[in-house]
Amino acid sequence: MASILPEEYEWGICISHDVDHLGHKEHRFWEIIEFWVTCSIEVLRLRRSILSYLKVIKNSFFTKKDSWDCVHEMCELDFKNSIPSTFFFAMNPGIGLKYDRDQAREKVKTIPFNFEVGVHGQFQDNEKEIKDEYATLYNMLHRRPRGIRMHYLKTHPNMLKLLKTAGYEYDTTELDKSGGLKQAYKTPEGIVEIPVHLMETYLFSPFYENLKLEKAIEKVEALIQKAKQDRKIINIIVHQRSLSEDLPRQRQFYQWLVERVSKDQKCWKANCMKIAEKVNGNQNT
Ligand SMILES: [Zn+2]
Repeated sequence: MASILPEEYEWGICISHDVDHLGHKEHRFWEIIEFWVTCSIEVLRLRRSILSYLKVIKNSFFTKKDSWDCVHEMCELDFKNSIPSTFFFAMNPGIGLKYDRDQAREKVKTIPFNFEVGVHGQFQDNEKEIKDEYATLYNMLHRRPRGIRMHYLKTHPNMLKLLKTAGYEYDTTELDKSGGLKQAYKTPEGIVEIPVHLMETYLFSPFYENLKLEKAIEKVEALIQKAKQDRKIINIIVHQRSLSEDLPRQRQFYQWLVERVSKDQKCWKANCMKIAEKVNGNQNT
């Protein structure tokens, strides 16, 4: 398939934000403790200062504004840097994801119109639930949702067929670990698949790569060079909570990333919907 990158650009980036948390409140206390444990492992592995750890504990109890709710700040930062990102909101709870539909609805209402909102799906093989999630976001947005990403990137052999039947145009759940930047394509089910190349969790979690900020930047910079060389689009997930002061490496990484791409006039800033439109446009011509 021909490249979907507009001619005037050298490479592209598609940034999306999975919304796994809206705040501390929706979680049980033991789930907050789990977060503290992860943070304490980071301290032991020299990836977090003691001061930052103490702030995490403090923020679990005493913040005027919940430190895990970064949706507004994320929108402002993306807008300032001309990033038209996609936010994926859950319509049902899932693993470690505890906010409900009413909370999702209130938050979805605050997302400015220039961003895209999609479904953070919880069901891979349940036609009724998949249709219900689609209809629920349709009701919240008053326009049809275009795409979906499954929580934890879970898939199922029937999934794409069910997503297509429900009305979705694209899915962005496939994880491409090849390093070759697999590009968006139309599947036999008739849905656009936009493979994911990078997720900030893999870079920074003490249970995955646990990189220092400089190493993470080096890794992404190498990927950008690869994208430039092959005229490709990088698809990256950065969770909305990653702008929290509770996650300083993730926050600094994202601030670096948006500044890096916004300064680059040869970088096409897309969201998932724009990519799906391009793939479908290319198919029709
Ligand atoms: Zn998720």
